[in-house]
Amino acid sequence: MRIVRSPRALNAALAAARSSRRKIGFVPTMGFLHEGHLSLVRRSNAENDLTVASIFVNPLQFGPREDFKRYPRNWKRDVAMLKREKVDFLFAPTSADMVPDGFQTEVKVGKVSLPLCGVSRPTHFAGVATVVLKLLNQVRPDAIYLGRKDYQQVLVVERMVRDLGVPVRVRPCPIVREPDDLAMSSRNVLLSPAHRAQAPAVRRALLEAARLVRSGEKRGERVRRALAAALRRAPDARVDYAEIVDAATLGRVVELRHGKPVLLAVAVTFGKTRLIDNELVRV
Ligand code: AMP
Repeated sequence: MRIVRSPRALNAALAAARSSRRKIGFVPTMGFLHEGHLSLVRRSNAENDLTVASIFVNPLQFGPREDFKRYPRNWKRDVAMLKREKVDFLFAPTSADMVPDGFQTEVKVGKVSLPLCGVSRPTHFAGVATVVLKLLNQVRPDAIYLGRKDYQQVLVVERMVRDLGVPVRVRPCPIVREPDDLAMSSRNVLLSPAHRAQAPAVRRALLEAARLVRSGEKRGERVRRALAAALRRAPDARVDYAEIVDAATLGRVVELRHGKPVLLAVAVTFGKTRLIDNELVRV
């Protein structure tokens, strides 16, 4: 694995691959890697001739009172994990390259970035889209691999790619979970032991609401209430949202309709640590 710091070095490193038409898969991350990230790497390796992974803790996607400084980092361990997975290039750009002095450009995706996480994190998805587009311009991969844990992020990137004609295929990948069903996240290590013990309630609540949907409940509000009630079983969870939305548009579901996939989506905060999870349900 080659570690590349500057966009110029990355371009030089990928020139040979590009001219011989080798397929490039790209896995963007913020580091502190886990099996969720590695599942994206494996999929990219399986579907491409080479894989570029990036590590960049993107300051633009954190709000002013969010955990940018506290976000976990472990460079050495990340490098070892990516080497083991036979990643070809690790692109780890500096902030000076990614967000140079005087930076003033923003990629703002519309409707799909407004609900769910967009409510309490109003600048988050513009920060994501701006940096993902910049990374795509630098790496110019054939395919980008994204996790469905960040379901709304996948829709935002898909929308941006379609709207701006970015020549890349977006490959959404399944959520990878801990043995107790908690969705893997770099932030999980920030949970206190007590909060970590309560965290699996998030997924249990999602599954309970999914069962209600599958059993024929058609009223969105009923599902929403059941989801919120189930989340209250984690006594320290502050619920940011507990929603049932249209899986394609993220619009609020009032009445469930046959054949229309819905997304059950949750964001909760334990102490200072915000967790998200979701469940896609096709009725
Ligand atoms: P992050 O480092 O948290 O920005 O995540 C980088 C990529 O890994 C994103 O596409 C995430 O959706 C994906 N990812 C994070 N956690 C998981 C997980 N538990 N399962 C699958 N993909 C994940």
